[in-house]
Amino acid sequence: MWRALVELTRRWQAPVPVPEPLWQEVLARYPFIAARPASERERLRGLCQQFLARKEFHGTHGLEITDHMALCVAAQACLPLLHWGPGALRWYDDFVGIVIHPDEVVAHREVMDEAGVVHHYDEPLAGEAMAGGPVMLVWRHVRGHAEDGRLGHSLVIHEFAHKIDMRHKPRHADADGCPRLPTGFLGLGARAAHALWADTLQDEYRQFRNAVEMAERFGAEPPWLDAYGAHSPAEFFAVACEAYFVNRPRFEAEFPRLARLFDGFFQPPPLTGAATP
Ligand SMILES: [Zn+2]
Repeated sequence: MWRALVELTRRWQAPVPVPEPLWQEVLARYPFIAARPASERERLRGLCQQFLARKEFHGTHGLEITDHMALCVAAQACLPLLHWGPGALRWYDDFVGIVIHPDEVVAHREVMDEAGVVHHYDEPLAGEAMAGGPVMLVWRHVRGHAEDGRLGHSLVIHEFAHKIDMRHKPRHADADGCPRLPTGFLGLGARAAHALWADTLQDEYRQFRNAVEMAERFGAEPPWLDAYGAHSPAEFFAVACEAYFVNRPRFEAEFPRLARLFDGFFQPPPLTGAATP
């Protein structure tokens, strides 16, 4: 009955209200969204309408994008924007396309080492976000897994955390886990705020990487957070964002310093000004 939501939104170029049954389906799929206060769920629903009006979805390998699929992406992608005021979606206005593959894809990579030798390798991808470019997602993972809540996993939040990290950076600058902070972040000036963020993230990243290494090399207890976060500070930030939004109690118990930092970023007090571009 409401299968045409994405189509109507695209044709009218205006937000189309999300039908109640469709919204309830998405809440049932993602308990961490359903558990939010009613006022936040309504605000999120409004953000989803605007998100769907601004983005274009493409399915590959014959995958037909249904309204349910588009809303599954929108609801998770907009969760980090919940407290950033009316201009929040501008954080995502550097791209339009969202490409969804039915299953994991293999990316052919090449890197040049210090000696100038080019190495080729294949990397299986569940998702990818490029600065100024589209977001790629694999539906099998967007849909979610039974253990996602306990483990604090969300592929969509991961990729959109990369988008937030990349936004407002100079051209060709890589994501580094340090997004642009709102004015008055934790009551600090801009320079002190950035230093606090960068130092805390680096410190937590180093500890996490050590814990992953101890587990992999010496059989120590593996840390709770996804080991993929040990790849780089940018991946650590993305993985930590997933956990922060999906399993806040466990995240706070494991990373109290990051939880306070993320609260200051994702839930800034109204008087400090919203984090808009
Ligand atoms: Zn990543």
